[in-house]
Amino acid sequence: MAEVLVYVDHADGAVRKPTLELLTLARRLGDPVAVALGPGAADTAGALAEHGAVRVLTADAPRFGEVLVTPKVDALKAALDAVSPVAVLVPSSAEGKEIAARLAVRADSGVITDAVDVTAGDEGPVAVQSAFAASYTTKSRITRGVPVITVKPNSAPVEPAPAAGAVADLEVAFGDAPAARVVERSERASSGRPDLAEAAIVVSGGRGVGSAENFSVIETLADSLGAAVGASRAAVDAGWYPHAHQVGQTGTTVSPQLYVASGISGAIQHRAGMQTSKTIVAINKDAEAPIFDLVDYGVVGDLFDVVPQLTEEINTRKG
Ligand code: FAD
Repeated sequence: MAEVLVYVDHADGAVRKPTLELLTLARRLGDPVAVALGPGAADTAGALAEHGAVRVLTADAPRFGEVLVTPKVDALKAALDAVSPVAVLVPSSAEGKEIAARLAVRADSGVITDAVDVTAGDEGPVAVQSAFAASYTTKSRITRGVPVITVKPNSAPVEPAPAAGAVADLEVAFGDAPAARVVERSERASSGRPDLAEAAIVVSGGRGVGSAENFSVIETLADSLGAAVGASRAAVDAGWYPHAHQVGQTGTTVSPQLYVASGISGAIQHRAGMQTSKTIVAINKDAEAPIFDLVDYGVVGDLFDVVPQLTEEINTRKG
């Protein structure tokens, strides 16, 4: 059967959820062969096998930590040459998209980024993209080389599908492509909440929240749901929440199962980053706010009345 390369995003061997989602999509196209790189690469094998990887190619070398992106491209290109896959799937993170683009150039292949679905087609994989702030859905197929496709988080379910997951060393000859060398690393203080781009639930606040201190109302609701916290640009520009949490055209694009917007009007640039969420809930005191045009559930009311009640009800039901 045809094989499909899946680039593994992991932290010291802990496989991130978007990679497991890629394995679900890869199984539609052929047998998934996972490529895990850097420290802990071999520790990924258990989770990858559980979710359908027939093989896991691993490589570790100091260079993966010392130089940004290009050593990973060297390794993925080595895997591509060794496996001759029908497609390469990569998570749509900023790094994933750079890896995919560089790989496509080296392999003389086409690349599609930010797909929200991938299906098998008669003439090769078909990637679905959501364009122009989700006003259009496009389906595209790569016509040159081995298709390289990056897929947004939350585009497919995580499905257990036990497979062999045989681990093998990947031989990598590192090249001298233009590269950025790491000079220092410092760990970000963890909020204990899920990563914004990957979270299944995102709870966001906008200008209506009114101050940095008031964001605790949003955070408390987020914590009751195990959600990530997002913010509109107005709230970020006001200095109430860090830019890393901005949702929208110039922030992070999210596509969670549930998106809760409080005190956010629904400007086109905000919608561009959350419109593909599966279920959208908005709380706004203005019944005419544009956000209500795209919601599944809308509450017209003051967020400082509604959100604490919602949090309390969720906590009660959780017991
Ligand atoms: P407003 O539009 O001011 O809306 C606040 C809402 O809160 C109102 O609807 C009001 O009724 C409601 N409200 C007020 N008080 C309460 C209360 N107590 N209870 C309930 N509701 C209340 N924006 C983004 O978000 N992300 C981006 O990435 C982004 N990129 C941009 C890029 C460009 C090039 C440009 C030009 C703009 C961009 N913007 C972006 C900005 C965008 O146009 C809007 O200005 C911004 O999204 C507005 O944020 P907001 O909805 O929080 O604020």
